[in-house]
Amino acid sequence: MALNVQAIRGMNDLLPEDTFVWQQVEKVLRDTVNSYGFSEIRMPIVESTHLFSRAIGEVTDVVEKEMYTFEDRSGDSLSLRPEGTAGCVRACLEHNLIYNQEQRLWYMGPMFRHERPQKGRYRQFHQLGLEAFGLEGPDIDAQLIELSYSIFKKLGIADNLTLQLNTLGSSEERAEYKKELVAFLEKNFDSLDEDSKRRTHTNPLRVLDSKDEKVQALLKDAPKLSSYFKEETRSHFEKLRAILEALNINYEINENLVRGLDYYNLTVFEWVTKDLGAQGTVCGGGRYDGLVSQLGGSETKAVGFAIGLERLVLLLTTLNKLDTTKTNDIYVLGMGENIEVHLAKVSSYLRNSLNNVKVFTHCGGGNFKKQFKKADKTNTKVAIILGDEEIKENKVTIKNMFDKDAEQVTVSLEDSIDIINNILNK
Ligand code: ATP
Ligand code: MG
Repeated sequence: MALNVQAIRGMNDLLPEDTFVWQQVEKVLRDTVNSYGFSEIRMPIVESTHLFSRAIGEVTDVVEKEMYTFEDRSGDSLSLRPEGTAGCVRACLEHNLIYNQEQRLWYMGPMFRHERPQKGRYRQFHQLGLEAFGLEGPDIDAQLIELSYSIFKKLGIADNLTLQLNTLGSSEERAEYKKELVAFLEKNFDSLDEDSKRRTHTNPLRVLDSKDEKVQALLKDAPKLSSYFKEETRSHFEKLRAILEALNINYEINENLVRGLDYYNLTVFEWVTKDLGAQGTVCGGGRYDGLVSQLGGSETKAVGFAIGLERLVLLLTTLNKLDTTKTNDIYVLGMGENIEVHLAKVSSYLRNSLNNVKVFTHCGGGNFKKQFKKADKTNTKVAIILGDEEIKENKVTIKNMFDKDAEQVTVSLEDSIDIINNILNK
């Protein structure tokens, strides 16, 4: 009986043509975060469920509707991580990384949310996350924003993204404001959509970023959080804006930007694009000064962001910004007695003598025509050919596959290295 098993809906295979593109993107990301002095941390994919409900908030979409939660064989409730911040804070507390010291960390890997799969929204997706602990000033907030901007610049998509910026103030300021907002929402309850009605009493700030047009129109007359801000919030935000302006980073203030997770305060930001349809947020982040103590640590300032890699790659491919033609450097082929041994030895010599060069060894025999066909299929630049003569004289023949007019040369293995390098570096 045929085994008819398919991948889980919303969980994608990344095939060789995809990983070729992903690796280019991941390299830019890794190089950038390293150049800002951030260190990598790797957390498990599975954590205790209560870590997420505690960190993210019981009444957020993520915890209410989107988590993959299950009981393991010991009866413990575990969840696949829907984001990285909670696990990162847990790891920092467990290993005492942030007590009285600053820490600048990054991680990259899969996250899981049970959402309706569509373009740019999947059930397994990947994030690059950055978290900075122990720093309270707007300078680090600005640095994180600048870092994200420099990633987009390097990838050639900065012009297609807009930075949206807001401040959520302190929890005291928000508590004051919430009272007035709830009163306003109750007064207009009948005009709200179902989600907003529900959120009015569970998470009223979330109503502000409702996608419902009627609700958005109504909110024009709603009370403003900004009118509750005191000096500290104002000056934090003003300094942040001043740094961004000095760095020539354009932004839009979006007072309705509140972000989906509960733990944010002061700075919040998103990078959004019009080129991806409804799933236009490529990166989101902000300050979360309350989270570490909420998870049992001592008061620790914190700020971070996450980039959604699927949306980043989608944007890059939509805008044609990536190299999609895979090439192979060297294809080693040949015919003759004991050819397998000779191909293996020559290939091994080439791999050891050439840096960062892809050497593909022909396997499975066959005539020259068949072998060259395979070399062409892998888009190879240089063919290294072994025949009876070459084997006898300990030589190789070099053929430039990208320049059909170039002459073939037969040289010793040692002399082949310079010639190959010349062709590859042209
Ligand atoms: P959205 O409003 O699109 O649901 P979010 O606010 O839930 O996004 P965050 O929790 O801030 O997203 O995650 C940061 C980034 O991760 C998002 O900006 C997005 O690029 C990406 N992301 C989040 N959820 C998904 C998903 N289900 N599939 C693909 N990417 C996602
Ligand atoms: Mg979401």
